[in-house]
Amino acid sequence: MTTVEQPAVRVAQGSLVAGVDVGGTKVAALVVDDTGQVRGKAVRPMADRSHGGVEPIVGAVKAALAEAGAGTESLRAIGIGVPGRIDARAGIVNLATNLGWRDLPLAALIEDQLGVATSVENDVGLAAAGLVRHPVAEGARSLAYVAVGTGIGAGLVLNGRLYQGDHGMAGEIGHVIVVADGIECRCGQHGCLETIASGPHIARRAAEALQERGTEADRILRAGDPITAKTVYEAAAAAEPIASAIATETGAFLARSVAGLMFTCDLDLVLLGGGVAAAGAAFLDPILAELEHLRAASTLVGAFIPPGAVRALAPDFEPVAWGGVALARGQVMTGFQGETPGTVEEVVARTPLT
Ligand SMILES: [Zn+2]
Repeated sequence: MTTVEQPAVRVAQGSLVAGVDVGGTKVAALVVDDTGQVRGKAVRPMADRSHGGVEPIVGAVKAALAEAGAGTESLRAIGIGVPGRIDARAGIVNLATNLGWRDLPLAALIEDQLGVATSVENDVGLAAAGLVRHPVAEGARSLAYVAVGTGIGAGLVLNGRLYQGDHGMAGEIGHVIVVADGIECRCGQHGCLETIASGPHIARRAAEALQERGTEADRILRAGDPITAKTVYEAAAAAEPIASAIATETGAFLARSVAGLMFTCDLDLVLLGGGVAAAGAAFLDPILAELEHLRAASTLVGAFIPPGAVRALAPDFEPVAWGGVALARGQVMTGFQGETPGTVEEVVARTPLT
C-alpha cells in the first residue's frame, strides 16, 4: 500500500473529487479540483486483488491525492468505472468477467477504506457521460464513446442524457453481427464485430495471414512473440504489407459500424478510445478513409457524418476516469452524497450542460 506523505500544500476541505478507471490490467485515478484542474494522477497494476480486489484502487486514489498534496479529508466524492454489469444504486459490481468479480460491493469496500462517498458505474457509459460535459466534446449533445480494446462497446449520450437501455446493454455494438457465417464470438453468436476488430482478433487475423502469405517484408509482424494488436499497428505504421491490409480491413469494419451507430442514433460526435485505439494514426486513418469512401458515394452519409464527426481521443486522456470525476462532482452538486447514491443517468440528467 502506498504511504501518503504529509501534504505540503493544504487544499480547502473537501474541494477535490476523484475519478477512477478500473481495467483488467491497471487502475488509473485522477484527482481534480473544483475548477476542473487535474491535481494528481496515478496508475497502479491491477495484479494484487487481495481484500476483495480493492487494494490497487485504494492505492491509486491515495497516490493521486499525495501528488495533489492532499489527504482523504480533502476528497468529497469518488466515481469509479468498471467494465461489467453494475447495480449503480447499490454500488455493487454484479459481474465483471475480466476482473473475476461477481456481486462485489465495491462502493462500500472503498467507503470503508477511505471514508469518502463512492459511486460505481459501467465504464463506457461513465466515459460518455463525462465526455459530453468535457471541452473535448466541443458542446456536442448527442455522442458515443466507442472503446476498442479486448472487447468493443459504446457509451451513448442522447440529447444530453446518458442512455443505458432497460438492461444497461445499450451500445453493445461489439456483438452486432458483421460477417455472415463468421467465427464464433465469446457471446456465442458468429461473426460479431468483436470477432474482427477487437484487439485479440486483430492479432489472430494477422497471425493467420502471416502463416498463409507472410514474406520477408513482414519484419515487425514476424518478430511479434506473441503478435498483439499493438504489433500489428506498429507494423502497419512501417507500411508492412500484411499488417497494412489487416489495419485497412479493420478500419473498414469499424467505420461501417460507427456509421451504423450514427445513423441509428443521429449523433453529433463519436469519440474512439480504448487500448487498441491508442495505436494512433495507424488505427484511425483507415477508419477515416472508409468514412470518406462512404461520404463520396452518398450525400446522406455526407449530411449525417461530416468530416470531424469521428475522432480518436489522445491515448493519455483517461475518458473513464474523467467520467468518474463528472459522476463524483455531480453527486456533490446534486446533493445525493450521503444518501442513496444517484446513478450516473440521474446525475447527468440533473446536472446542466455547460
Ligand atoms: Zn458477440
